[in-house]
Amino acid sequence: SADSAEHARIPLPRDLFQPQRINSRGVEFGERAAVNRLVAEIAVEHVSIVPVNDSGPEDVNRAVAAARSGFSSWSRAPAAVRAAAMDRAADLLEQRSARFIALLQREGGKTLDDCVSEVREAADFCRYYAAEGRKLFGDAQPLPGPTGERNTLRLRGRGVFAAISPWNFPLAIFLGQVTAALMAGNTVVAKPAEQTPRIATEVVHLLHQAGIPEAALHLIQGDGHIGAALVAHRDIAGVVFTGSTEVARSINRTLAAKDGPIVPLIAETGGINAMIADATALPEQVADDVVTSAFRSAGQRCSALRLLFVQEDVADRMIEMIVGAARELRIGDPSDPATHVGPVIDREAKDRLDAHIARMTREARVHFAGLTPSSGNFVAPHIFELDDARQLTEEVFGPILHIVRYSASGLDGVLDSVADTGYGLTLGIHSRIDDTIETVADRLQVGNIYVNRNMIGAVVGVQPFGGHGLSGTGPKAGGPHYLTRFATEQTVTVNTAAAGG
Ligand code: NAD
Repeated sequence: SADSAEHARIPLPRDLFQPQRINSRGVEFGERAAVNRLVAEIAVEHVSIVPVNDSGPEDVNRAVAAARSGFSSWSRAPAAVRAAAMDRAADLLEQRSARFIALLQREGGKTLDDCVSEVREAADFCRYYAAEGRKLFGDAQPLPGPTGERNTLRLRGRGVFAAISPWNFPLAIFLGQVTAALMAGNTVVAKPAEQTPRIATEVVHLLHQAGIPEAALHLIQGDGHIGAALVAHRDIAGVVFTGSTEVARSINRTLAAKDGPIVPLIAETGGINAMIADATALPEQVADDVVTSAFRSAGQRCSALRLLFVQEDVADRMIEMIVGAARELRIGDPSDPATHVGPVIDREAKDRLDAHIARMTREARVHFAGLTPSSGNFVAPHIFELDDARQLTEEVFGPILHIVRYSASGLDGVLDSVADTGYGLTLGIHSRIDDTIETVADRLQVGNIYVNRNMIGAVVGVQPFGGHGLSGTGPKAGGPHYLTRFATEQTVTVNTAAAGG
């Protein structure tokens, strides 16, 4: 069919950009010819940046009312039907990968390898939640009980879910939230980030084409005010949110102040992510992994490395190698496949990051200050050394690395510093001592720990992603427990003797 011919045309093999590291040798592309074909296809996609209208409070009311009226039929649709729509969505996404990559580049400012991995991740979310959903939301599960009685347990949708997402993974996180809520039998009103409204619009079209009824999925656009109005609506039965810790808190307060049912919040928020490199770590690998973890996606990943602790005996050499690797980074146009670091999301983000760089330049030791193109929202990678980890008090969402030295006997102090941040999202350990690795992993309540590798990577079903404390509520996106939190449980106990059975 025309469909399968088109499908075959688009290359998105899992290893296209493997091993997905930026290092002193540049991005290592899998198959050059496949990359060139993809770049040619992206070039013909015309993404026009026309203004998107913000929704008003009336639109919120209308969307929630429509989602409410769609609930009864969608929540009763067999899990297999819901799952088939998710699988179709993944197929459509792959068929249109060039289109979505073009959108991600144009609206999100993302580099080619970031775009490819985001489309991959989005399709993975659809298929993973489809597969998990078939298991969890199929037949009611029998429970043991006394003779004369039959007990079963089933999971059901809650009602209308509000899905509020950030701009930094405008395709994968938006789609992951929406498909999880839908797969669990909820209907959804989604509010994407105001910086990336067009990607969300196309994703919603795609989901409708894949078989999600229009009544089950609605989109509203606008900034935090519209998000807040959605959360405050009395008919919202659950909220899934990814974004800053501060906004998660504000949503929590709104939900707590509402009359009516208790509404659950699933929140994935920020981090001050640390890596610890001791004297046994392999310097060249540390340098590659640090540069990838801190600077890939211009540092605009919630998992990105912000705070590197290096044991003092090896610190000078390691810092020299890290700076050497950072010097190799190419900063510029994200549509050029040779670019490692693209722009940050907008002017406001640039101003905030530039202010942080100015403060650190006064208060810390500057090891590296990169160069940027003279115009555009670019922030150069920077490497600072701090006397004390406490100088970094908040999440800095850009390509800025902070290094702190520690003494051979100082590991406990490092662990205290990491714990004291209150966040618990990702952590890197570079060491060849098993005891050290175990102690660190055991002492810190962190969601995702990466040992002797970079901290980039939340492969769906492989490294389910999410954190503790200030970093979120769990459960982990792309993991086996995620869908259950979108659902309620219902048991049915039947007196089989009375039924004559
Ligand atoms: P943000 O919190 O500013 O905005 C996120 C979303 O919330 C946007 O859609 C925004 O419009 C909306 N919003 C803002 N105020 C609101 C309110 N009062 N009520 C309801 N909704 C409101 O975050 P951002 O700048 O878009 O994204 C960056 C942040 O996201 C960083 O802190 C990053 O660490 C975090 N993040 C976390 C993860 C994770 O999985 N843990 C993933 C990606 C990003």
